[in-house]
Amino acid sequence: MAAPTFTATPGTRDLLNPTTSRMRELVETFADEATKAGFGQIVPPMFEDLDVFVRLGESTDVVSKELYAFTDAGERRLALRPEFTASVCRAYVQHRPTTPWKAWYAGPAFRQEKAQRGRYRQFDQVGAEVIGSHDPDLDTELIALAWRFYARLGLSQVRLVINTLGDKADRPPFLDALTAHFTAAGDALSAESRATLEKNPLRVLDSKREQDAEIIATAPALADFLSDEAAAAFDRVQAGLRLLDVPFVVEPKLVRGLDYYTRTTFEFVSDALQSAQNAVGGGGRYDGLVADLGGPADPGVGFALGVDRTLLACDDEGVFGASDAELDAFVVDTTGEFAALRLVDTIRRAGLRADRAYDGRSMKAQMKAANRSGASVAVIVGPDEAAADELVVRPLRSDAEQRRVATSDLVPALRGLLD
Ligand code: AMP
Repeated sequence: MAAPTFTATPGTRDLLNPTTSRMRELVETFADEATKAGFGQIVPPMFEDLDVFVRLGESTDVVSKELYAFTDAGERRLALRPEFTASVCRAYVQHRPTTPWKAWYAGPAFRQEKAQRGRYRQFDQVGAEVIGSHDPDLDTELIALAWRFYARLGLSQVRLVINTLGDKADRPPFLDALTAHFTAAGDALSAESRATLEKNPLRVLDSKREQDAEIIATAPALADFLSDEAAAAFDRVQAGLRLLDVPFVVEPKLVRGLDYYTRTTFEFVSDALQSAQNAVGGGGRYDGLVADLGGPADPGVGFALGVDRTLLACDDEGVFGASDAELDAFVVDTTGEFAALRLVDTIRRAGLRADRAYDGRSMKAQMKAANRSGASVAVIVGPDEAAADELVVRPLRSDAEQRRVATSDLVPALRGLLD
């Protein structure tokens, strides 16, 4: 076969069945968990004013390097969403729903990243956000929601790591201590991390470079700089998770990629995936983001889970396989008339799944197609049967005998065989 003229652009993929049906089922499972927890769905636009995303923080890679920004014909500066939280906050400020506002979402996000397994330029997320409450029990409930969701998919190799980033006021003394520590390390710190240090000392903790590991390990910990309120909130989240039997590990170096987090942050890591792409989800509190978007000083907390990566983790753990969305009946019609057209319509209207052959193929070719289709039953009609207003129903996946039935009895006969 000649190479196609066009293929999907790097970092994007065509999702085909059965991946698409698994994805739909995954989203339905998530929607069910979120609905049970009192969340309503939000469908924000896929692109927004560039500035909505810039508010996420300019030292954030997602904003500074990975944003798909463009100018439209009306000279508006726009960008494809790299995540949903900023859009949800923007929508909150615009519509001012009653609080606490609980919203869940599902859909694609876009980042200009170097594509590899589990890292794409268009990928899907499901997530949930709550705006308008400081209650740390919400942090616990959100984490538990994600945890129960992973469990429902059958994943058992997902770990939860949590941390607190304290309040905005806790940061300056901690950042000063951190800057002093990293500056004292001099050239022992990698050049990349020295550059990061200039922009955001917190992000140096994110460095995965071996050269930096020792210096990071001995860095000051935010836990020693927390306000009493932030420390009490973190204690309550941990107590809540223990109460709900959600296992976790506190990881003081977990800062996450986005700048807007305050207090609780968390990440779900799959041990079934390679370490560079093993984060299957994450989130945290963002008590300043709504205000940064021109809204009231209302707090928020939420998470996003990567759908593509979660499915990869399911593959690697051998769970949440594609369900058999096979056919109930396959119609084989050698009358040369309208029998197949009418019969599949009748079967489908009865709520069963039916398909047929096309292009006037031979009986043998149609039977082959029926077997290949995975259908449970073949419904066969030739000139003889048509003249008697009858059909043959032949089980394809059991030893039961084939039967001849009146056309008007087709649906009950099918139901009988399918049971
Ligand atoms: P983040 O907003 O970066 O915390 O992303 C939340 C989740 O989305 C991550 O834990 C990943 O599972 C997923 N994710 C983020 N970026 C990508 C990407 N480029 N490709 C696939 N999944 C991604």
